[in-house]
Amino acid sequence: MKGHPYVKTGIDMACWDILGHVAGQPVCTLLGGRYGEDFVLYRAISQGAPEEMAENVAGYREQGYRRFQLKVGADPQQDIERIRQVADLLAPSDKLIADANTGWLMHEAARVLRGVADVDVYIEQPCLSYEECLAIRRRASHPFVLDENVDGIDMLLRGHADGAMDVVNIKISKFGGLTKASLARDLCVEMGLAMTIEDSWGGDITTAAIAHLAHSTPTEFLFTATDFNSYVTVSTANGAPQRVHGRMATSQAPGLGISPKWDVLGAAVVDVS
Ligand SMILES: [Mg+2]
Repeated sequence: MKGHPYVKTGIDMACWDILGHVAGQPVCTLLGGRYGEDFVLYRAISQGAPEEMAENVAGYREQGYRRFQLKVGADPQQDIERIRQVADLLAPSDKLIADANTGWLMHEAARVLRGVADVDVYIEQPCLSYEECLAIRRRASHPFVLDENVDGIDMLLRGHADGAMDVVNIKISKFGGLTKASLARDLCVEMGLAMTIEDSWGGDITTAAIAHLAHSTPTEFLFTATDFNSYVTVSTANGAPQRVHGRMATSQAPGLGISPKWDVLGAAVVDVS
């Protein structure tokens, strides 16, 4: 059955969990080993007034986060203000990413990039298509992140050959599970490309899978990862990794190291035997 990566991802994650239980090893060991005690997270900052976003960044900075992804991609003038106000309160070792989530047309992206030309900020997925992003990338001096356009190995290789990005965002379910995402991860390491490792969204189970892939990625190649279970209000598993001062460590228990809360998840929608 071709395609359907989002559906296949859950099944693929379950297979890695089973393999880990049979082997008596955490998934991160099966994926290449554990790099360091823990790994770095970023905090996404929802779009709002520039002052409000700066206030949110200051609050999360207090909690230990050092990498911040601003949701921009709206009015260029306001986006410039958002980026500038947040950049002003960060330390030189912090990292700031302006993620437009495909939201700008090319002329808008060009204006924003010119408006923040002197700011130390990464630009993520400014426009909808790969061709638009590439055109903007070629006239920008900022480090560049591609996200939505990279949905498989083909696009990863094409983007690398074109020099279209400095960092790539690997979302597990966009690739169809840990098997394909870890293949992409290993390829990025070989090509010298840093990564954000995360997913489109998720709770405890997805966060555990992200943690195993992120923690088994050589530290210098892991740009950031996401603690999705800090963003949601419902817990779907026991034993899920938790953020500590803007960082996270994966479980040392076999498999994904979690036990699903079946009462929260409800009745099974598919039974495989
Ligand atoms: Mg993004």
